[in-house]
Amino acid sequence: MAKEVNHTNIRFWGGLRTIGGTVVSVEYKDSRVIFDFGLTYNPASNIFDGQIKRRVHGMVRDNLKLNLIPAIDGVYSAENLGTYQHDLIPAEENGQETAVIISHLHLDHIGAMGSIAPSIPVYLTKESYELYHALEVIGEGVPGKRNYQSCDYGVSFSIGEITITPIQVDHDILGACGFHIQTPNGAILYTGDLRLHGKYPERIEHFINEVNRLGIDALIIEGTTLSNVEEMREAIIGNPIVPEGMTTEITIPEKMSNKLNETKGLGIFNVYHRNIDRLIGIIKASQGSSRKAVFEHETAYLLDKLTDEHDFLVYKSVETIFEEQTGTLPDWKSELLKRYESISAEKININPGEYFLQNTYENVLELFDLDVCEGIYIHSNGVPLGSFDPAFENLKKILNKLDVDYDYIGAGGHAIPSHLKYIVDRIDPKFLLPLHSFNPERLKPKSGIQLLADYGVDYTLKDHQILANEGKE
Ligand SMILES: [Zn+2]
Ligand SMILES: [Zn+2]
Repeated sequence: MAKEVNHTNIRFWGGLRTIGGTVVSVEYKDSRVIFDFGLTYNPASNIFDGQIKRRVHGMVRDNLKLNLIPAIDGVYSAENLGTYQHDLIPAEENGQETAVIISHLHLDHIGAMGSIAPSIPVYLTKESYELYHALEVIGEGVPGKRNYQSCDYGVSFSIGEITITPIQVDHDILGACGFHIQTPNGAILYTGDLRLHGKYPERIEHFINEVNRLGIDALIIEGTTLSNVEEMREAIIGNPIVPEGMTTEITIPEKMSNKLNETKGLGIFNVYHRNIDRLIGIIKASQGSSRKAVFEHETAYLLDKLTDEHDFLVYKSVETIFEEQTGTLPDWKSELLKRYESISAEKININPGEYFLQNTYENVLELFDLDVCEGIYIHSNGVPLGSFDPAFENLKKILNKLDVDYDYIGAGGHAIPSHLKYIVDRIDPKFLLPLHSFNPERLKPKSGIQLLADYGVDYTLKDHQILANEGKE
């Protein structure tokens, strides 16, 4: 499919007006870079209701049929495409050199990366790569086995005449970055997901400076927090200040400590454990309230592999006790139990007020074995995230049954509108393409052109300008 044209072609395959599922391709001659390969996050309309069995060997075909993954030529293997080969060119038969680059390991950015043909390299930042390997060990890898390549912040690499430079950002997950993509026609910057109210706002400053140093023509930026009602549709004013009273990654440990100090009974928390900063914050909150942090095995494993924090206990669930008794404990679990002190519900119940215990939603029934009297359940961005997820009602029902108080102490991973606008203004691109948003039109450029991208349209980058070629093909 070698194209003898001297311009860069940009195409959007997913994630424009949804939260996540972002897939964008950038082509120059016979080279192509695709960034992110996730699934749209929408628990309320998910076809997989827990009753339909997924077909491991038909996954790519099924997902194509359900429009869960994009119908792109040359990305899936002939074997996985099967009968779908009538509609799509398999990776093996595609003349292009393709690489996929991943901004971070949230499912809305990686959920389908296991579907990509093994012949196509998929790049993760070094930190994402390490995190992904740890996730695979604890059974949280994405469906589909394949290899991954690693890349590093600030270190450029090339796919044909396309040069990619990952630049670190701050997001609520380890290893997040944006990508500077340079072709002979101009440069594009994809932010991935980012925020200014995280633990490392200085990373965003560095990111902006790096982007400005490298120079860009088009900025593709996430806009998760843009809503259509905020401030009665007044223009968003750019401002890097964190609004007073807003809970941030930095203020969470103290807020949790305060709550725990006024709680007599057991402290319980529900987090999304890919946010390693939050896990460290939980340990700090425990120390600040003279409690011991207790983590489930999977999370303890991530802490052990990815941090220098060891001040915690490992929770011995009913399942783990059974595995121990029957000699069926997986290696990684028994390794962990050798290195860290563990504690069972029975032991915690002797003095529940001395602990801050992790409980993920899938393990919610463990709470039935615990003395939660005068305790507190602190929801801190673990699933179910909110009332838009039908499971949230379920969680509330169970907590009601247990008669345990509920509190939310968390912080989102996405820049608030004034921060998004600040980033846009500082970079001041010629073309601004907001996506990963229900209301991308709310984010306006400082002096350039706002381009609300559409599916099925070829965007041409030539002489540092972008043109939309609608109705082509
Ligand atoms: Zn996202
Ligand atoms: Zn994300």
